[in-house]
Amino acid sequence: MDNRAVRYVKGVGEVRGKKLEKLGIHTVHDLLCFFPRRYEDRGNVKNVCDLCDGEVCSVVVEVSYPPTFHTAKNNLKYSRVFFADTTGTLVVTLFNREQTAKALVVGEKYRLFGKAALGRYGMEILSPTIEIYKEKRMKNIYPIYSLTAGLTSSVFSRIISSLSSEMKNIKDVLPSSVREKYSLMPLNQAVFQMHFPENKESLEKAQETLAFTELLLFQVALRCLKREKEKQKAFEMSDEGYISEFKKLLPFELTEAQNRAVSEIVPDMCKGYPMVRMVQGDVGSGKTAVAAAASYFAAKNGFQTAILAPTAILATQHFETFKKLFEGTGITTALLCGSMTAKEKRETKQKIASGEINVIVGTHALIQKDVRFSALGLAVIDEQHRFGVDQRAFLTGGDGFTVPHTLVMSATPIPRSLSFVLYGDMDVSIIDTLPLGRKKVETYTVDSSYRERIYKFIKKNVDSGGRAYIVCPLVEDEEEKSEKKNAVEYAKNLVGTPVGDIKCDILHGKMTSAEKEKVMQGFKYGDTKLLISTTVVEVGVDVPDATVMFIENAECFGLSQLHQLRGRVGRGSMQSYCVLMSDNKTAKTRERLKVLCDTTDGFKVAEADLQSRGPGEFFGKRQNGEIRFKTASFADFDILQKTQGLASEVCKYQSEENQMIENSAKTFFMSNFEENTVN
Ligand code: ADP
Ligand code: MG
Repeated sequence: MDNRAVRYVKGVGEVRGKKLEKLGIHTVHDLLCFFPRRYEDRGNVKNVCDLCDGEVCSVVVEVSYPPTFHTAKNNLKYSRVFFADTTGTLVVTLFNREQTAKALVVGEKYRLFGKAALGRYGMEILSPTIEIYKEKRMKNIYPIYSLTAGLTSSVFSRIISSLSSEMKNIKDVLPSSVREKYSLMPLNQAVFQMHFPENKESLEKAQETLAFTELLLFQVALRCLKREKEKQKAFEMSDEGYISEFKKLLPFELTEAQNRAVSEIVPDMCKGYPMVRMVQGDVGSGKTAVAAAASYFAAKNGFQTAILAPTAILATQHFETFKKLFEGTGITTALLCGSMTAKEKRETKQKIASGEINVIVGTHALIQKDVRFSALGLAVIDEQHRFGVDQRAFLTGGDGFTVPHTLVMSATPIPRSLSFVLYGDMDVSIIDTLPLGRKKVETYTVDSSYRERIYKFIKKNVDSGGRAYIVCPLVEDEEEKSEKKNAVEYAKNLVGTPVGDIKCDILHGKMTSAEKEKVMQGFKYGDTKLLISTTVVEVGVDVPDATVMFIENAECFGLSQLHQLRGRVGRGSMQSYCVLMSDNKTAKTRERLKVLCDTTDGFKVAEADLQSRGPGEFFGKRQNGEIRFKTASFADFDILQKTQGLASEVCKYQSEENQMIENSAKTFFMSNFEENTVN
């Protein structure tokens, strides 16, 4: 791996280096692995007479007359050029491209690529790329990188080109036998083809090779991690009827699925090596009660539990729940958040260190070095996707050599096949039923002609004691700050609508966690009845009065994400509703949204999501905040299966080749995943 700082690469320097860093490119290795976002296929060459309005394609044409030069009223300079092939003529307007226009030679052949459009002068191609046409020597596939402001694609291409010879030095990470068996390219060729694709076939092979490699190494790394974990020591506990005691504390009966999860957790905690188990269950499936059972179990065995929540709101919520639940049992609870005063924090830390506190709920403040436990037996990580992989291994038992048992709670139901890939280092318990008597959230899909009616519906719900969320549309590739603008403008536009006089507030991702918390508190307990939000509301906050979730541009979201959003309502006794608004009438979108209307089972939704988008989309869209794959988005089911099978073989049998894969996996894992901590 080439860890030279990127600013030393030819043509980069200090200024461009800074821009590259904005893209997450720090080293030469990062640069080589910064793959195009998509590719343009300029090989689709049409006759001029066959061009269709809106089609993106190429034409091979001659310049008919010398270009003419003009200045528009707003001082914009443009030139107009007439092109023709044997089938027809074509007009092109070039804005601010005087040099390009001047270089065109009448009678010469050029390849134009762009979007065809029917304009005032007949068929046009809008802002085409123009290349001198040389039969046999035309490249068809062009990489498109997603770059930041101030870094043009031509500059970036030049930088990448200057590294093309160094790409040859990239060493293979898989043994040649594996490469041959699965017909993969050598790694250096694959990387080269990603940046300089020869043709479609070689590009696809390169993508397959990289996706295969990435998924394989990731899975092998997780399995190694699991093997290592099993060699560590943890406090051994035993069950003296504690679980039945615990159940008497609850105001309800555990569901069958909750009971099953508890019965998988308890034996794990009785082993001498650390449990690493994930509890996957839909929002509202009652994961907290399962965590409470485990912490009660640990406390009765004389060990402490740390409960880690991603936000202060959630930590406070859990703290209140646990405190109430354990009242009168002798089990002590405490809260530790960054927002507490220094004195409060210091005192709480002392009580943690002395063992006075049994169950400690907190945010990242809990995983600071100065927090010492007297005997930490269990760590519960709630909504784990907000924490980095490395943070899973953050705590030690307090005696210097044991590791706590770890329970990870995830509200993201994931199809089994992907669960194996993403969580190969953990055992998984699934809570697939909701507590009895829960009302289903009624879900509807509508188009924007219904907006007025939905607003009236929201008003009616709020008037009868409910609260409502509106998730406003998200525009892709937006500048960072417009997420806020979006929500603010949306709220402004509500003036004069049926919801115009409802007290509303705004929540968006650019707010600090303290600001967010204040807004959420107002929505939960105060007089804010309507929350205009971007998707930050996804984090598991419990507002039992919320009865309407209205999502604009629902087609822009993944099914699982919509399902998560829907989970914000239906948490109290009132009937709740989820309205998905979309003007997208394609069969695919309608089918996708119908899944949500038909089922409230998160595992079914996830499975449908996987079927409709393929595994690649799942990986590509960062289904899971902690895992940032670079190329797994090219994977299909076939690659998924092959890598799964191979990963388990590699970890099972000792051989020189398997050792090579394991070593690669470790390096790969370190460089790609370990540093991904959350804020
Ligand atoms: P999540 O899995 O989203 O973390 P919670 O643990 O917050 O869900 O539980 C959601 C709600 O359901 C809570 O109010 C909790 O008290 C309630 N609950 C949990 N388990 C049961 C059960 N077995 N029967 C009835 N209510 C339950
Ligand atoms: Mg929860």
